[in-house]
Parts: sequence; C-alpha cells; structure tokens
Amino acid sequence: MTLPSYEELLKRLRKGLEERGIKIQKGQRLTLPEPQVLWIGNKTILRNFSDYPKLLRRDPNRVLIFLAKELATAASLDGERAIFIGRKDKQSFTVLLNRYMQEGVLCPVCGSPDTKSEKVKRLQLLVCEACGAKSSVKVM
Ligand SMILES: [Zn+2]
Repeated sequence: MTLPSYEELLKRLRKGLEERGIKIQKGQRLTLPEPQVLWIGNKTILRNFSDYPKLLRRDPNRVLIFLAKELATAASLDGERAIFIGRKDKQSFTVLLNRYMQEGVLCPVCGSPDTKSEKVKRLQLLVCEACGAKSSVKVM
C-alpha cells in the first residue's frame, strides 16, 4: 500500500471543504512588500505606506493609528508616505504590518485575505468573503 501524496491529500481536503460549501481560492496568498524607510533628522518616513492599506483593503488612517500606537509615537500621512516621529527601524514596520495582516485581515478560519471589517453593535468583526466566517478581531 502506498501512502497518498501531499497533492492527493490536498485535493481531498479541498473536496471536503467544497462539499461543505467552502471555496478555497488558489494563489490568494498575500505577501506584503518590504517597507521603504528613510530617516530625516528625528523623523522616520515610510515611503511606500499607501501600498499597505491598498493591499490589505483597510482605511489608511486605521493602519496609521495602529502603527503609531504600537511604535508609541505620533504619525501623520503625507500623500503616499507616512511620517513618524523618532527613528524607527525597518524591521519594526515589517513585524507590525505583518501582525496587522495576521490579526486584522486574514480570516482565522480559512486564511483568505478577502475580508472586510464590520461593526456590529460594539463589536468589531472580521467578515470573510471567501468562507463567510465572522470572527472578532484585536486590531482594526
Ligand atoms: Zn474565511
């Protein structure tokens, strides 16, 4: 007896989910671009800031507030760029933006990035357009 291949297992898993009405979309993995950081005096400029809210389909102000809060500093938008007070390293942006994506964008049930945030009463929910799951979120 031979064991089923990884591909075979994946196919079965997908079939099982499809039978329950859950669609797995291929090639939907979201990869965030590398932050383009620049320092001027005591300020940190994230040059490609606007790429992130676009990719994550979130309000730029929300993403900015999240970053500013986590970096414990003040921030402002300047066109496509975001300006932070103090010298922040590139790695911090990478970590925080990925955390924002994990906690506030990706569906915890199926992993799809096709989600939207919805406010129901006082709860902030993450509604998945791929599988329909509604989850509560920490960051928004
Ligand atoms: Zn989902």
